Amino acid sequence: MRVDLHTHSRVSDGTDSPTELVAAAAGAGLDVVALTDHDTTRGWAEAEVAAVRHGVALVRGAELSCRADHASVHLLSYLHDPDDADLLAEGERIRASRLGRARAMVDRIAVDHPLTWDDVLAQTQTGTTVGRPHIADALVALRVVADRGEAFASILATGSPYYVPYYATALLSAIAMVRAAGGVPVLAHPGAASRGRVVSDATIRAAADAGLAGLEVDHRDHTPAQRAHLAELAAELGLLVTGSSDYHGAGKPNRLGEHTTDRAVLEEVVAQGRLPVVGP
Ligand code: AMP
Ligand code: FE
Ligand code: FE
Ligand code: ZN
Repeated sequence: MRVDLHTHSRVSDGTDSPTELVAAAAGAGLDVVALTDHDTTRGWAEAEVAAVRHGVALVRGAELSCRADHASVHLLSYLHDPDDADLLAEGERIRASRLGRARAMVDRIAVDHPLTWDDVLAQTQTGTTVGRPHIADALVALRVVADRGEAFASILATGSPYYVPYYATALLSAIAMVRAAGGVPVLAHPGAASRGRVVSDATIRAAADAGLAGLEVDHRDHTPAQRAHLAELAAELGLLVTGSSDYHGAGKPNRLGEHTTDRAVLEEVVAQGRLPVVGP
């Protein structure tokens, strides 16, 4: 059984619609795929229909923007109640802050490059969780850069003068909120150094005490040494170990199913989650 527990659609910063993503998952030979758009569950309804049609089991999820040790950390939540008031309000707060932040970044970039807010809006739809990838796509359309990768390596880099931060939930609060909403919280790519700093062991231990369910260990942003270390830490702390692609369609090189999660781990996630899997 092939299980990929981390993907993004156009509802956040992927380039496939939820339907296209589920169809691509079927085409890639996946039996189970999780849709985990940033800070929103807006893609779920469409993905549910596609899952039934394409014969792929859908794990409904989200990837929440968090902070720990003053760094950006991502928390995957699986199978939570999408109508939970606290989690909904927190998602709205993050997405509103992301929008203001994107406008502020465009204001800064516009001093040096021919970029307007309308150019960025043209890369989004109503309700999209707006992020740097949409600014990148606008810069690509204007031929300022060749692709998202080049944009992130230059104008949009975290250390760039154009960079503006946004509100994100404190990690331990987010874990408590996810559990209160019946969700299963898994730390996304904790060893990815692209965010400036990896999540410390101390933070992972504190997160485990706060109710964390698992660590995403097998991910392309982790070195073999990091995977070994994270797997050891997970065993010590009694955390589940997942593997996922973090697919973003054409927005990143990550391919569906390039890393997968064991069936027994999926079964444990489903056992802990409030919602069922949709589809076959
Ligand atoms: P933001 O949350 O708006 O600060 O943007 C971060 C998002 O940009 C992450 O969710 C990644 O999916 C995406 N991202 C980061 N680095 C790159 C890159 N080099 N190429 C494409 N997308 C990237
Ligand atoms: Fe992303
Ligand atoms: Fe992430
Ligand atoms: Zn992701």
